[in-house]
Amino acid sequence: PTMAHSKTLLVLENFIGGRFVPCSSYIDSYNPSTGDVYCRVPDSGKEEVEAAVKAAKDAFPVWSSKSPLERSQILNKLADLIEHDLEAFAQAESKDQGKTITFARTVDIPRAVHNFRFFASSILHHVTECTEMPTMGCVHYTSRAPVGVAGLISPWNLPLYLLTWKIAPAIACGNTVVAKPSEMTSVTAWMMCKLLEKAGVPPGVVNVVFGSGAKAGEALVCHPDVPLISFTGSTLTAQRITEKSAPHCKRLSLELGGKNPAIIFDDADLSQCIPTTVRSSFANQGEICLCTSRIFVQRGIYSEFLKRFVAEAKKWKTGDPSDPTINVGALISKEHLEKVRNYVKKAQAEGARVLCGEGVDPLALPPGNQKGYFMLPTVITEVKDESCCMQEEIFGPVTCVVPFDTEEEVIKRANGVKYGLAATVWSGNVGRVHRVAHRLQSGLVWTNCWLVRDLNLPFGGMKASGIGREGAKDSYEFFTEVKTITIKH
Ligand code: NAD
Repeated sequence: PTMAHSKTLLVLENFIGGRFVPCSSYIDSYNPSTGDVYCRVPDSGKEEVEAAVKAAKDAFPVWSSKSPLERSQILNKLADLIEHDLEAFAQAESKDQGKTITFARTVDIPRAVHNFRFFASSILHHVTECTEMPTMGCVHYTSRAPVGVAGLISPWNLPLYLLTWKIAPAIACGNTVVAKPSEMTSVTAWMMCKLLEKAGVPPGVVNVVFGSGAKAGEALVCHPDVPLISFTGSTLTAQRITEKSAPHCKRLSLELGGKNPAIIFDDADLSQCIPTTVRSSFANQGEICLCTSRIFVQRGIYSEFLKRFVAEAKKWKTGDPSDPTINVGALISKEHLEKVRNYVKKAQAEGARVLCGEGVDPLALPPGNQKGYFMLPTVITEVKDESCCMQEEIFGPVTCVVPFDTEEEVIKRANGVKYGLAATVWSGNVGRVHRVAHRLQSGLVWTNCWLVRDLNLPFGGMKASGIGREGAKDSYEFFTEVKTITIKH
């Protein structure tokens, strides 16, 4: 960037012990819709993580001894403050991530607010267990206590949404935290830090250290005084975190990638199924771990489905994310766009057909967005189950559509990947819906809908999609240590 340009750069600082502290070196952060560097993110390492862990340790005794009600009131206050600034947060998230302003306004930021309200409430309603053993003259009961300093590491696709999904339960349970957002999308976490004091969050309870995964993330994972790590991101990074944390026997929660199937039977209500499956394939540029990327359609309706699905996908407008009429914004980075495009090229090389989108339809962009990382919603067909496009997580606006004949066959094919995060099943037959849902290897199964969440219930994946679950009870259990106490009378 030129000097004139650098004056306008947004410069973030770490938030440690209730204070913003500058860092000695920085990472450039790009606006994905223009390709310009617009922000500098601290390139933290061991030293910064050390300071943040110390601040979190110091804050733990007081925070952990507050009553759940006191903590709940503070979480609610923080929710109110974020909600008050919803528009500013939404603008920042859209600019930083490339997502549409509409998605940031209606999904990301409202959900971040809801995460704090939800755990502010749910923390008040947990009960512990008790059993009696009259013949021994004993009662047993369980007690739960916060664990200590929680290390929270989040990805770039739903930045504030996923970070607050960890911060809220961690601090509601009485832990203190050191959070490390993605170096590509750090701005809204930094904005949230500015509200913590006003909400009444004591210094050191929430510390945010910005920087890369290799430096800041790994320093957090390897820190001996951080007994638990909650991570959302790729399966590859999770493997590395597992190895690095093994010598310390850390408690891990891992929310990872997916290769999510949609199974569409010939009795599905296509008027509901088609728009929802277009949304589940392309929402947030396909950059949601829950996005559909393999669509299995029963043979009898296959050609009708394809025709209507492609027509619906073509209605989705790609362009300037700040334009509220746009459906598809920019992908996170130049490298990621290249990676996603390469999957389409590989499919074509294998003999698959691209019915719309990348390389088939023209992409018209406004002058200011010519250097942005845009791509049209892309539908691929005539692709084999063994193809990398049907096996690997693409994490972009690309979906594959293939036919199937029987229920038995489609269950086997849907389960035939290493991942097991989310699936959708479309059918009007209640018995079939239950049968198929039970047999899918998937942490979440949505039938005749997509992404309808009750935060009370477990969220997470099977197989390479993760270890552990998050949700009201699950997050409570993860972020607390249980003890069984026996009293003889
Ligand atoms: P990523 O694994 O590259 O990065 C995630 C976070 O981990 C970032 O903050 C990164 O800086 C950090 N990190 C990277 N290397 C690290 C290391 N060695 N030690 C510690 N931290 C490290 O993932 P991403 O590209 O940011 O996100 C996309 C991935 O996240 C996709 O695979 C997607 O499916 C997954 N995801 C999963 C869920 C879920 O709930 N299951 C939700 C959203 C995204």
